[in-house]
Amino acid sequence: MPAPHQYRISASDPTAHLFEISLTVAEPDPAGQVFIIPAWIPGSYMIRDLARHVVAIRAAMDGEDVKLTKLDKSSWQADPCEAPLTVVAEIHAFDLNVRGAYLDTTHGFFDGACVFPEVVGQEDLECHLEIIPPPDTIATDWRVATSMRPLSAERYDFGTYVASNYAELIDHPVEMGNIHIGEFEAAGIPHAIAVFGEMHFDMARICHDLAKLCEHQLGFLGKPENLDRYLFLLTVRENGYGGLEHRWSSSLMCSRKDLPRRGRTKVDDDYRKFLGLCSHEYFHLWNVKRMKPERFTPYVLGAETYTGLLWVFEGITSYYDDLFLCRAGLISDKSYLELLAQTITRVERTRGRFRQTVEESSFDAWTRFYKQDASSSNSIVSYYTKGSLIALALDLTIRKESKDKFSLDDVMKECWKRYGETGKGMPERGLESLARSVTGLELVDFFDRFVRGTGDLPLHGLLKTVGIDMRFRPAVDSKDMGGKPANDEAEPPPWLGATLTRQGSLNCFTLVHSGSPAEKAGIAPGDEAVAMDGLRLTAENLDSRLRDHHEGDAVTITVFRDHNLMRRRVTLAAPAEDTCYLVIDTDADAAVESGRKRWLGRP
Ligand SMILES: [Zn+2]
Repeated sequence: MPAPHQYRISASDPTAHLFEISLTVAEPDPAGQVFIIPAWIPGSYMIRDLARHVVAIRAAMDGEDVKLTKLDKSSWQADPCEAPLTVVAEIHAFDLNVRGAYLDTTHGFFDGACVFPEVVGQEDLECHLEIIPPPDTIATDWRVATSMRPLSAERYDFGTYVASNYAELIDHPVEMGNIHIGEFEAAGIPHAIAVFGEMHFDMARICHDLAKLCEHQLGFLGKPENLDRYLFLLTVRENGYGGLEHRWSSSLMCSRKDLPRRGRTKVDDDYRKFLGLCSHEYFHLWNVKRMKPERFTPYVLGAETYTGLLWVFEGITSYYDDLFLCRAGLISDKSYLELLAQTITRVERTRGRFRQTVEESSFDAWTRFYKQDASSSNSIVSYYTKGSLIALALDLTIRKESKDKFSLDDVMKECWKRYGETGKGMPERGLESLARSVTGLELVDFFDRFVRGTGDLPLHGLLKTVGIDMRFRPAVDSKDMGGKPANDEAEPPPWLGATLTRQGSLNCFTLVHSGSPAEKAGIAPGDEAVAMDGLRLTAENLDSRLRDHHEGDAVTITVFRDHNLMRRRVTLAAPAEDTCYLVIDTDADAAVESGRKRWLGRP
C-alpha cells in the first residue's frame, strides 16, 4: 500500500484571498499522474467548474520541476516520474457561502471540493491534511473547526488531520478564525457548534436545543455505525441563509437576527428558522449522505449525474425538518402548522407546478432549479417544497389507508435498513416499491399522479383525517407568507400578479405570474416601474396603490423597458385565494385527535 497522500493547505495570503495547496503523491502513476478538481459539490447539483479558481499550479519531484499539462477545464497530467511528486497550487478563495472557499484577514473557510485536487486512480488512499495558519502579522487568535479526525493536532487547532480517502477528505469543511465553540452530547455522541461572525447570543440555549433535536433524530432512524462525532459549522452574517450537509458535519449560514439573544426564552420566527435549518442538515446525515440515490454511489464529480430522486432526499428531508422540531418539543403544534401552511402557500403560488413534475424537477436540477430566472416560478416546481408536501400526503395517506398501523416513518426506517446501512444506494423506483412492501398498500396511482404527474395533492381531505382544517384566503399584502388567519381589518388588495422589488434607486418588476393581469397587459420582468395612474409606483407603496382600486378596475401603469417609456392598461382581478392557514378542528372525534397526536409525536 503506498504512503498516504500528503495534502497541505496554508492560509498564506489572506489579503490576496489565496490559499496555497500542496499535495505529495508517494507513488505517482508511471504513465503520468492525472489530477482533477471536481466540477460540482455533493449536495449542490450545479456544475461549478471549481478548477477555475486555480490561479497557479506547478509540479516538482526532488526539487526539479515536472511538466504539468492541462488536459481539460478540470484536470492536469504530470510527466511520468518515479519518486514522490508534489503539486503546488494557489487557489483564489473569495466566495463566502456554505459551498465555497473564502479567506481574508478575519477568517477562512473551505469546502474541500473547492481546493483539493483528486489523485486519479488513487482515490481510495488515506489522505493527511496539514492546516497551516496565516502569518502572525495577520492573526494569532485563530482556531480551527472541522469534523476531520486529528492526527497530530490539538482540538480546534492548526496541525495535521486525517481522512480515510478522497471522498472523505472533501466531506469535512474547515473553518478557521476567531470562532466561538459550544459543545454538547446527544445519545452519548459528542457534538459541537463552531460559530464565526457573532459573539452576542445565547450559546447555552442553542446547545440545549440542538441536543434535544439531535437526540430525537438519533432515535428516529438510529445511530449510524460510523457517527462518532458531529459538528455544526456556522457563519453568521448580517443577512444570510443556507446550508450544506456532510456526513459528520454541516456548513450553515444564517443572519445575525436568527440567533437567540441571552435572557430570552421564546422561539421567535427567526430562531425557529435557524433551528429548522439545523434540523434539515442534520437529517441529511442519514438521508442523502449515507442513504443516497444509486446513481450517487459513488459520486462522479466531473459532470452532471442525473436522478429523479432529489425530491426524496430533499423533499422528505424538508418534510421532516420542521416536523422534528415539533416532535422534539422545541415548537408547539400551532407553530408547526404555521410552518406547514407557509410551505403550502409557497407551492400554491407556483404556477410551474402544473408544468413540471417533482421527478423532472429533480432530474433537471442542474439546468433549471439551480439556474433560475425571473420566469422560473411559472415554469418549474421546487423538489424541496412540493417534495415535502408529497411526503406529507404520502405519510397521511399511509396512516389513513393502513388505519394508523403504518406511516412514512416505517417506510423511512426500512429504507434506512435497506439502502442506508448497506450503503447500496436507492434505485430510481426504490422508495415506491419499498413503501408498497412495507405498508401493503397499492401506491402506483399516488406516485403516477403526484410524483410523475403534476396533480395537486389532496391535502384538504388528508389533513381532515388528522383533524386539521386547511383554509385559503387572499394575501393581505406582498409580504404575506401565509400560516396565519388574516386579521379582520386587513383589506386584501386586488390582484396585479407581479412582484415589484427595489433595486438600488429603481423599482423593478421581478416576477410576473403567468395568467395574471400584469402578464396580460404586457408587463415583463425587468420593467422599471414609474407610476400607476400618474402617481409614483414603488415596491413600498404598491400594496396601498392597489388598495385604492377594486377588482375589475382598469389602471394605467407606466414602465421603462430599455429606456423606452411604455404605458400599460391593466384590468385588476379578484385577489387569488392562495394563502394557506391551518386550523385544528376542536370538534373532531377522539380517534382523529389521537391520530394527530401520533403524527405530531405527542403523548
Ligand atoms: Zn437539503
